[in-house]
Parts: sequence; structure tokens; C-alpha cells
Amino acid sequence: MNQPKNQQSAIRHALNVKREDDFAQWYQAVIAEAELAEESGVRGCMVIKPWGYGIWERIQKLMDERIKEAGVENCYFPLFIPLSYFAKEAEHVEGFAKEMAVVTHHRLIQDGKGGLVPDPEAKLEEPLVVRPTSETVIGAAMARWVQSWRDLPLLTNQWANVVRWEMRTRMFLRTSEFLWQEGHTAHADEADAMTETLRALEMYRSFAEDVLAMPVIAGPKPENERFPGAVETFSIEAMMQDGKALQAGTSHYLGTTFAEAAGIRYQDKEGQQTLAHTTSWGVSTRLIGGVIMTHGDDDGLRTPPQVAPQQIVILPMLRDNDGDEALLAYCEELRASLAKQNAFGERVRVLLDKRPGKATQKRWAWVKKGVPLILEIGGRDAEGGQVSALRRDRLWRQDGKVNFAAMARDAFVESAVGELEAIQNALFAEARDRRDAQIERGVTDPAGLATYFAEDRKFPGWVEMVWSKPTGAALDKVVEQLKALKLTIRNTPMGGEPVSGSCPFTGEPAVERILIARAY
Ligand code: AMP
Repeated sequence: MNQPKNQQSAIRHALNVKREDDFAQWYQAVIAEAELAEESGVRGCMVIKPWGYGIWERIQKLMDERIKEAGVENCYFPLFIPLSYFAKEAEHVEGFAKEMAVVTHHRLIQDGKGGLVPDPEAKLEEPLVVRPTSETVIGAAMARWVQSWRDLPLLTNQWANVVRWEMRTRMFLRTSEFLWQEGHTAHADEADAMTETLRALEMYRSFAEDVLAMPVIAGPKPENERFPGAVETFSIEAMMQDGKALQAGTSHYLGTTFAEAAGIRYQDKEGQQTLAHTTSWGVSTRLIGGVIMTHGDDDGLRTPPQVAPQQIVILPMLRDNDGDEALLAYCEELRASLAKQNAFGERVRVLLDKRPGKATQKRWAWVKKGVPLILEIGGRDAEGGQVSALRRDRLWRQDGKVNFAAMARDAFVESAVGELEAIQNALFAEARDRRDAQIERGVTDPAGLATYFAEDRKFPGWVEMVWSKPTGAALDKVVEQLKALKLTIRNTPMGGEPVSGSCPFTGEPAVERILIARAY
């Protein structure tokens, strides 16, 4: 058979837009084609569909286990927060004021023109804010729950939805309503609170890398990027395939700011009334956006096996004839033996997709969803005790054909767990190598930044530089300079060699490294 010379170009990818042609469009295409989510009609609010919500449920389950392992207990606090709670902490309210949804009435009446309007008689005495984050309301509860040093540390978490009226929204990455967990803890002193802040950060780092196969860099944020009211904010930053940074999680040391505002005081061992030190930390449905932009390819999503709602899908090639019964029996037996296996400490999640339709059509639907392993079983496979297996992360052969491997059924069942682990590791290694290759360390001054991030440069990565950690007005100047290039300082990577030389922005001695990037 005559194959074209450039065999790659023979591949007809499952999406009609490629990453390198239009990354933003490609991202929307993956979300639509993998049936992750859709627009709801309310700006910035999305409908999360079963495959997308299934990934979120996996994230919830595995994160919740880690949260509980650390001795943190789940609670639930109200969606509505009295406006006065926010007024108690000036910096916090200032940070969130621009994005708050506020409830002012509790009843509607006819407007006489066939419509409905809020009833002026039903105006709330005090407006209620739809929570953008829960420090204030949880702080009020902590003030009631904490009396003595014996009550500390107090370690709580809630799984909830929050609302921030974002001006520029993008599905999963930045929505007006999003789902998240928010950890809130109170401690006797700074040292204990800082230990918890860093524990949560490390929990997020290892979760991102080990579960989502998404390499991240953890470290403190510069002063200007801190959470409103925080003394110190730490983040994990992931590089997307277009080179942009995604803040994938944050952990805040809040000092005594919120304890003062809410009155979280305890009697210490000497009998003194003392302010507690608090922390908060959160990750959201944004993580799913991170998974898409880390692992997706021109055929859709590649879902890391640990968070794939289904890890293996079996597609019987039904013929609407007498052979179907034996074929389905064979597939069901195969499903049952796979479902008995353990991968990553849990039962393997395997689906026998018996829905009507051509197997190849169903195959492409699952390819786009990124199920890690796809099995296609025909009548002859069933008779011969065989399977045809496809690894989603290695979809194409050199010759441009889909990379199915024929295997004996028992051999496949035995190797399935190892394959899932190999896919998880391969996705991580691929993302880490790509990220590492795109961190530029040769830029030493602001002019170099302008060149590196020049408008016509496609998918620049990140620049790592040293600086003197300026504060106040000197920091504002740096921030302005970077803003003109649409850049931000992501964080200060922790660890690494001590730095030397002088700061390219201030000329003063450099004290630490920073990562500079375009960001979502
Ligand atoms: P914060 O409370 O601002 O520290 O936010 C905690 C985490 O929630 C951030 O690190 C983001 O990953 C995520 N997040 C913040 N804003 C949004 C948003 N509008 N949509 C989705 N996720 C968000």
C-alpha cells in the first residue's frame, strides 16, 4: 500500500481545531466534544455534565481523603453571609467588593405589566452576600467554638459553591459560580498556623502531581498577589500547553487579621486571653481546566487514570444478529474480571458500553473523553479469547493508523493495572518535560523580558529571574512594568540554590528567584 511520505499529516484528528492553530478555541472544543460542560445561559455559570462532574467527584474523593488524613473535619456553613460580617475586615471587603452578588429582597410582586419585580415591602434589613469565600462566617463560628488553648488547633473544611462576579469568564478556569473546598483552621500561634499553611500547600502540590499528573511549582506569592487580608499567600502554579501559568491552588497564612475581626480568642496556658492565628486554603473546579490544558491533545481530553470516571471502556462490535449474545457474555465476563483488579488502591473502574451504535463511532466519543484504555471486541476476538486494546495516550501509530494492539484476554487482564499506572506516569513525565523545557533562565533584564514575550512569539513559557523582593511603591513599579507586557509574577519557587547578583528591576542585591509569566 502506498503511504504518503509525511505520514503524520495523514492523521485526521477527532477535533476540528488544533492546539497550535487556536488554543482558546481548541480548549472550548475539548469541553464540548468530551461533554464536560456547557454554557447555562447565565453569564459565567456553567452546566457541568456527567463526564466533567465525574472528574470533579474523583477530585473530591481523593482530596477529601487527604484532608481527613490531616485531621481536618468537614462542616457546612450558610451560602448567605450578612454584609456586616465583611465590613469588619477592611482589606478583605475591599478585595471582594467588586465581585459580590448581593441579595436585597425576599419576595417578588407583579409589576402590573405582566412581569415581576422585588417587593419594596420585602426589603431585607441587612443585605446578604452570596459567599465569595467563607473566612468571615467561619471566623464567627470559630469565635464561638474556641474558648481555651485546649480547643486549638481547630481544623475545618467545607465543600461548597461560591460566587465571584468575574468580568472575564472561561469555563472551569474562571467562572462566576464555582465549586471548591475551603479549609479554615485556627491555631495557638504563628508557628503552628504556618505549619498548617505549608502542609496544605504540600498536599496540593502532591495532589496535582500524583493524582492529576500536573507538574506544579509551589511557593509564596509576591505581596501584590496576596489574598485580601492575608499575611502570606502560597500557590501552586502549573504551566499549560500554551505556556501560560495557571494558579491551581492557594494556601494562606492569615495571621490574626480574621481572628481580630471575628473575635477568635482563647485562654492560653497562663490564663491570658490571646488571639488565634488562622489559615485558609482552597482548590476549585479550575483544576479540571488545568487537566484539560495539561493533558488534552488534538483528539480531545486524555484523562489521567486516577481521576477518570471510567478507566477502561469495553466496546462490543454488535452486529444485530445471533452472535451478539455470546459476544456480550464474553464482554461481561471480561468486565467482571477487570473490575476485580485494584489500581491506585481502588477497584478498577470499567464500563461495558452496550448502547446501540457503531463501535467506531462510540470509540471516537470515548477517545474525546479521554478514557485511558479502550477495548474493542468483535465476534472473532470472543471466539479466540482475544481483545483489541487502545491506550488513549498513544492513540496513533507511526503509519497514521489507530494504535490498537491485539492481545490474549488473560494477558490483558493481568497487565491492565500496570498499563493504567504507566499511562498516569507517562502523562506526568510528558507534562513535566514540556514544562521544564519552557522555563527560560537566560533573561536577565526587563528588555530581555520584552523580547522573550514579544507579541509574535507563539506559546512562550515562563521566565525565572532573581530580584530583591521590593515592597510598597518599589514593588508597584515592577508590577506596572510587567503589566505593560501582560506579565505577572507567579510565585517564588521554594528550595533551590541561594541566589547572587543584583535585581534587574531595582539594582539592589537579589534575594530570591521569581517566576514571570502570562497567566490565566
Ligand atoms: P482564593 O480563595 O482566591 O485563594 O481561591 C482559591 C482557589 O480557587 C484559587 O487558587 C483558584 O484555583 C480557585 N479560583 C479562584 N477564583 C476562581 C474562579 N473564578 N473560578 C474558578 N476557580 C477559582
